[in-house]
Amino acid sequence: MLNALSRSLFLALARRPVLASLLVRGGMRRPDSFVRRFVGGETIAELVSTLREIDGQGFTHTFNHLGEHVQSAEAARAAVRDYVDVIDAVAAAGMECKVSVKLSQIGLELDRGLCLEHLRQILVAADRRNGFVRVDMEGSRVLDDTLDVFDTVWGEGHRNVGVVLQAYLRRTEADLRRVIERGGRVRLCKGAYNEPSTIAFRSREDVDAAFIRLMRLLLSEGTRPAIATHDPHMIDATRTFAHERGVAPRDFEFQMLYGVRRDLQEALRDEGYTVRIYVPFGPEWYPYFMRRLAERPENVRFLVRSLIDEYVGRPAR
Ligand SMILES: Cc1cc2nc3c(=O)[nH]c(=O)nc-3n(C[C@H](O)[C@H](O)[C@H](O)COP(=O)(O)OP(=O)(O)OC[C@H]3O[C@@H](n4cnc5c(N)ncnc54)[C@H](O)[C@@H]3O)c2cc1C
Repeated sequence: MLNALSRSLFLALARRPVLASLLVRGGMRRPDSFVRRFVGGETIAELVSTLREIDGQGFTHTFNHLGEHVQSAEAARAAVRDYVDVIDAVAAAGMECKVSVKLSQIGLELDRGLCLEHLRQILVAADRRNGFVRVDMEGSRVLDDTLDVFDTVWGEGHRNVGVVLQAYLRRTEADLRRVIERGGRVRLCKGAYNEPSTIAFRSREDVDAAFIRLMRLLLSEGTRPAIATHDPHMIDATRTFAHERGVAPRDFEFQMLYGVRRDLQEALRDEGYTVRIYVPFGPEWYPYFMRRLAERPENVRFLVRSLIDEYVGRPAR
């Protein structure tokens, strides 16, 4: 009950940046701060150095320039320019360009046509660098539009694009079958938003059962599946199923968030699996950071301790 309350509270705070950024305004200033554990830096230079470190440890990466729900066409255009700059900078540093983008950041809620044009620009920029663009999935309000934009660029022949589907939504099996039929690439995750029980499974058991069902479908029939989870049970189920079906480790990948369950990331890497780390970066880290807090009560305790340390001048743990 307490967990559910704190989850709802932090998801609500995620939508009130001004109020709650006061709480964590010092969050990015120190390299050892709690925010930096989840966010790969605020600048392109910091991102490049984080990606270099990740690649050097034997992982692969995808980066996300943080931002969502832009309020103007100019802000959406600026986000696209930022993406193109980051793609060029990461390629110039000799690293692969795997991008994750939220369509609400490039204008989905303002004008679908504008968003489509913006996504095309990012796809072309990534393609020039041999890169790949994953369309993140946001709240259910924009789900149909997100899938529609994905379908449109796919139909136009763009092949360096994939999409995310969320196991907690009751409709996802149908969506997954449709994307698989078209040959599209899917990242499967549990889902990070607060959705009503009319459209989403709410209990852990139901979400986990759906995740396993969908993972099996994706691994059996999908193209280059990405299994995004830190849940050891979901990881075991994936490993076991892949082994039983003869799906080789090179034919799918695990994906995890930067700073989350580094022990599991290393263990899977050491077993020979591809582990892609999702690295968010940029000044607009606040809503992303709040969703990570909402996922785990221990994170809130950790944050409070860090803030106390910060304000009384002791090193953050
Ligand atoms: C690469 C990647 C991309 C994603 N993209 C999307 C997306 O596009 N749309 C979307 O809705 N969601 C996305 N998510 C988030 C996802 O939906 C879940 O909210 C998140 O991954 C937590 O679920 P879990 O599968 O890790 O399992 P859980 O059961 O929630 O967590 C399992 C264990 O992982 C650890 N853990 C989980 N979260 C945290 C945390 N924040 N801090 C510390 N430890 C933690 C804990 O040990 C926990 O017990 C993405 C996740 C990943 C890994």
